Amino acid sequence: MLICGAGPTGLGAAWRLEEQKNQDQRDTEWHLVEAAGGAGGMAASEHQGGFIWDIGGHVLFSHYDYFDKLIDELVDEWNFVKPVRGAWMSDRFVPFPVQRNIHRLPADQRDACLVGLGEVAGATATTSGDTLKDYLQSNFGQGLYQHFLRPLNRKMWATDPSNMNHVWTSARSGSSAQNVPSADYERIKNNIASNKDDPAWDEDTRIKYPLNGGTGSIWKQLADKLPSERQQYSSKIVSIDTTNKAAELQDGSTIQYQNLVSSMPIDTLLASLSDKPDLAKLATEFQPAGVDIVGLGLSGAPPAALQDVCFLYVPEEDLPFWRLTLLSNYSPHVAPQNSWSILCEINSSKDRPKPDGDIVSAAIEGLKKLGFIDDSIEILTKWHRSLTHGYPVPLVNRDSVLELVQTELESAGIYSRGRFGGWIYEESNQDHAFMQGVEAVNTIFEQS
Ligand SMILES: Cc1cc2nc3c(=O)[nH]c(=O)nc-3n(C[C@H](O)[C@H](O)[C@H](O)COP(=O)(O)OP(=O)(O)OC[C@H]3O[C@@H](n4cnc5c(N)ncnc54)[C@H](O)[C@@H]3O)c2cc1C
Repeated sequence: MLICGAGPTGLGAAWRLEEQKNQDQRDTEWHLVEAAGGAGGMAASEHQGGFIWDIGGHVLFSHYDYFDKLIDELVDEWNFVKPVRGAWMSDRFVPFPVQRNIHRLPADQRDACLVGLGEVAGATATTSGDTLKDYLQSNFGQGLYQHFLRPLNRKMWATDPSNMNHVWTSARSGSSAQNVPSADYERIKNNIASNKDDPAWDEDTRIKYPLNGGTGSIWKQLADKLPSERQQYSSKIVSIDTTNKAAELQDGSTIQYQNLVSSMPIDTLLASLSDKPDLAKLATEFQPAGVDIVGLGLSGAPPAALQDVCFLYVPEEDLPFWRLTLLSNYSPHVAPQNSWSILCEINSSKDRPKPDGDIVSAAIEGLKKLGFIDDSIEILTKWHRSLTHGYPVPLVNRDSVLELVQTELESAGIYSRGRFGGWIYEESNQDHAFMQGVEAVNTIFEQS
């Protein structure tokens, strides 16, 4: 079996194959090819300037006991963190979900949001429609749509909500709350009347994060447990011949396979099929949002407003980032003493270009504009990673295209899985990706 990628998906597949061998079930030959120099993929962590950087803030929220059991064995010690999160808008913190906490907004915005919520609550026949725009407007009203939901979603997806589906909104991908929690008009009116915060966590809620080494330490540990002679790094698959079941690497060599578990982005995979031009054409049906992640290592301590915050959504259009993660609040060991770190995520696509000029400077200026840093704070290090694929945008026709493409690929022995291999945003976190690798192997076993 050939595995493409040493991110959570590829490592999940390799782990399952080794587990089967160790349980004397099946001894399958496997070989893993990874373009990068090390394991982890987008869930890797990098070291720079004495700080540890995740490629975007990574929160662990598992849906699978199998995954939990393994990561508890891999991580020497967890840090347990209260998941304080919200939006920063109109110069203030509004707890997540914003729709339940509109009492925190300036009076004109709060009133516009409440009127809109009242209108949709009173509507006799509501339809959620097919698009994200229809869904958000018909469930949350015009006020919340204009002031928060539209600008945030446009920045996050770098795509207009009218071109997207809304299937992902009701899933619980990264916490026990829905990705876009529902809004109960009476509950929100009560929150306003009593000026009461209604966050999606309580005093006892905690998320776990590795105390040492950042998110990537999990995946490095896992790769280290697998036989090194089966893992080939700094080698990229550039072309796939499905008739002869051969993958060509960048150096011109080829690897024969019976089955391929691939975690490269599905659009890249399709475009690399040398003998399936009709399938290769469908690559353009997938549109990723790219992400530039700017990490700043800063002297001193975070401002009081951010002291216990994990991450913030930033919907306002005049600021380049849509999310800020206070990474040093996840573990005291990702930043040196007397310093803190923040990650700024700036998303772009063919429809929404990156900001003009130097993106690191744009992030710094944005933080100054918000008052989170000023000239008295020393910037100890600047870290920047740019990914062409950061978020798998759920376009309106996503599920029908995926069904067609995945059926064709599987009939050719190719199992495309993971965040961009599977392209299902609501099932694209680390636990999902790992389990998709495991389950791809199970499916192959069942069929052989
Ligand atoms: C900004 C951001 C924030 C995130 N936040 C969270 C979060 O809060 N919680 C969470 O659980 N998850 C989060 N994730 C998702 C998490 O990173 C993914 O779930 C996980 O990395 C997906 O694993 P994967 O193996 O499918 O893909 P990847 O991690 O992308 O791994 C794929 C691997 O394949 C390799 N590859 C690609 N093409 C080729 C080729 N042609 N030949 C050889 N190798 C190739 C790549 O180099 C890569 O190493 C976030 C991701 C991003 C980008």
